[in-house]
Amino acid sequence: MRFGFTHQYATLPDRFQTAHAPARAPDPRCVVFNRPVAALLGLDVDAVERDAAALFSGNQLPEDARPIATAYAGHQFGQLSPRLGDGRALLLGEIRCPDGLQRDLQFKGSGRTPFSRGGDGFAALGPMLREYLISEAMHALGIPTTRSLAVVTTGARVQRESDLPGAVLTRVAASHIRVGSFEYFSARGDVEGLRLLLDLVIARHDPQALDAEIPALAVLEAVAERQARLIAQWMQVGFIHGVMNTDNMSIPGETIDYGPCAFMDEFDPRTVFSSIDRQGRYAYSNQPVIAQWNLARLAEALLPLIDADADSAVTKALTVIEPFIDRFDTHYLSGLRARIGLASEEAGDRDLIKALLDLLRDARADHTLSFRELSDAAEGAAAEAPLRTRLAAAPGIDDWLAAWRSRLSRDPQSPGERAAAMRRVNPAYIPRNHRVEAALAAASDESDFEPFKRLLSIVQQPFDDQAEHAAYREPPRPSERVLQTFCGT
Ligand code: AMP
Ligand code: MG
Repeated sequence: MRFGFTHQYATLPDRFQTAHAPARAPDPRCVVFNRPVAALLGLDVDAVERDAAALFSGNQLPEDARPIATAYAGHQFGQLSPRLGDGRALLLGEIRCPDGLQRDLQFKGSGRTPFSRGGDGFAALGPMLREYLISEAMHALGIPTTRSLAVVTTGARVQRESDLPGAVLTRVAASHIRVGSFEYFSARGDVEGLRLLLDLVIARHDPQALDAEIPALAVLEAVAERQARLIAQWMQVGFIHGVMNTDNMSIPGETIDYGPCAFMDEFDPRTVFSSIDRQGRYAYSNQPVIAQWNLARLAEALLPLIDADADSAVTKALTVIEPFIDRFDTHYLSGLRARIGLASEEAGDRDLIKALLDLLRDARADHTLSFRELSDAAEGAAAEAPLRTRLAAAPGIDDWLAAWRSRLSRDPQSPGERAAAMRRVNPAYIPRNHRVEAALAAASDESDFEPFKRLLSIVQQPFDDQAEHAAYREPPRPSERVLQTFCGT
């Protein structure tokens, strides 16, 4: 079978990538397959699904695949690792899809590569299902993300804290080029490598940069804009990535690398779930400044391509880095305006939004349900009861609702239109940690995939009421709370 691959990355010089075959899976079984994503890629969906276990374990690669491990560096928790690379991933090639866009197909968990360092190159089933589930939920929420085509169990066991089923995830991305890809060549002082990588990024993601006076600066600005928009979207749904290292920040601006990521239940800006984030570097409220810090690392790598004079290169790069938080804030504010039902812009909106978030924090109210119930309240004062009950611990709710109604009165929509528009941006369903953990445990420990499939189908329609699944809207009971999440690598 052929997938119609191109091999732009595989034909870059040897220092970018190295050809490498996947490990053989002793007994591959496809446990989840994404038909819509297969169609997006222009594949023969039925034929591919029939052979999914062989194809997506790597046992029987598509004939035109050319698996490579790519080189990249990265700042991990602030420290530069000059050589990371695909330690357990292989890029099969790029596909020009029927929608005109080019996408990468990559295996994750397919065995050791020259970049594996101390790792075994494998992945456990639970974390691969987690990536599949949460990336599909993000996509359904309208947030740019890598997608998941399939998860195949290999039939081998992997050793982590315990002995676990091994699996391979097939991931689809606009590209796998990261901030860390540029840092790799920068750390080696390889300006020619930087130039080749920049040319590829311009060809794949930023063709408009070719007409700019300084293409490298135009790419930096395009990356900053995509990240500003992305992080604003994360913040609006309460998503915490958990490992915003520069090797996990995508140049095309997709959410990538779902490790210990999580959605928060009760609203607290300091929330951290990741067991490895002991300092809270990647806490919810830090995400915008961390994105800016990561972009500064990208800017540093690009300096020789921005200007031959080092000082003027820095001055020019700062014109993109310094206003990043404002850029983020513009997207954040406009997203939150929509979430509280505003159709116009007024100077006082920022304060109105901040006051609501302060109430949520003080009441330790559930982030998702508070906005969903605010959507219901937009129907009229008679529909306010659930939100009032949820925020009862915050004495300011009555005043806030009065201020909100007076603000709404200056907008043109009818209450019904407004409530409908709000329900299209305020989800009823997110992949709540306790549900995710329960679904993954059933799959991993008991080979029972039903809870996973049910949860997946619910979070794939996050804005629908799905009355029959109302229990999945609810935050965890105290005994069900998940306080920590793990990479599982
Ligand atoms: P991540 O935390 O998944 O973003 O991975 C960071 C780096 O560690 C990347 O270079 C990965 O390829 C590598 N890595 C993670 N898990 C493994 C593993 N089990 N074996 C080899 N390399 C790994
Ligand atoms: Mg990574």
